[in-house]
Parts: sequence; C-alpha cells; structure tokens
Amino acid sequence: MSDGNVKRRDKSFNEAKHRQRFSEPTTCKICHASYVKGRWSWKESPPEAEKVVCPACEKIEGDVACGEINIQGSFTDIMRRDVTNLIKNVEGCEIDEHPLERVISVDDNGDEILVKTTGRHLAQRIARALFKAYKGHLSYSYDRTHEKVEIRWDV
Ligand SMILES: [Zn+2]
Repeated sequence: MSDGNVKRRDKSFNEAKHRQRFSEPTTCKICHASYVKGRWSWKESPPEAEKVVCPACEKIEGDVACGEINIQGSFTDIMRRDVTNLIKNVEGCEIDEHPLERVISVDDNGDEILVKTTGRHLAQRIARALFKAYKGHLSYSYDRTHEKVEIRWDV
C-alpha cells in the first residue's frame, strides 16, 4: 500500500513540475520543440524563447520509459527488419502531432526485442500496428497510476 502512495506522490510532483516549469515561449535546446499555449509542437520559436530540455529529451537522456513493448517470437531476418521499420514509421507519424511521444531505444537481443518509448500512447500505437500487420497476441499491464504501460507481443 505504501508503494502506491509513493507513486501517487511522485506523479503529482511530476505533473506539478511539468505544469510550472515552462514559461512561454520556451524551446528545447536538444530537439528544438517549442512550448506555446500549454503544449509542445514543432513550430519555430522566437529567438527570445527560454532554452530548456523538454520532457521527452529528458526521458531519453535518463532512459526513463513510459511505454515498453516486449516482443517475443521467432523471426526471420526479413520480418525482424520489417518490424523495426514499422516501429520507425509509427514513430514518424506520431511525432508530428505529439512531439513528446518518441522511441527511446529498440534493443534486439536475438530472442526478444525490447522497445522503449517516452509515452504510453506511442507504445500502444506501435503495438496496435504490429498486431494489425502480424496478428499474434498482445497483453497490456499498467502501473497503478496508468502513467506507464508494459505491452507484451507474442507472435
Ligand atoms: Zn527536446
């Protein structure tokens, strides 16, 4: 139970931090996303914009995933390549509209592929695309706060 309380405190702390931290206009000094009208976008920011590290770049630097997809199955090399391309394509579509949804890493150790994302929305979208293309079986598990999703895809 105390574990849940800690998580809830962390969540509200993070939300407050994210709400308060950015003045407007602000731009990310790593990826150049800009923060205007309460949201991140790829619109060009004015030169006087404050320079920060955006939440997505912060997660990438710290390897903090809010979405994970664990892919289990026996793949041919061609399918392995196609799956990797599909992940990149889904990220490419998502990132235009949602600059904070990004792939952190794709680790292929032969027996399994582990995909980490900065946001759970992107992980869910990749999982749906994989299922649509190859079927198999998807299972989802969320942490208590629903801030993080772990998805397992068996194919
Ligand atoms: Zn950034």
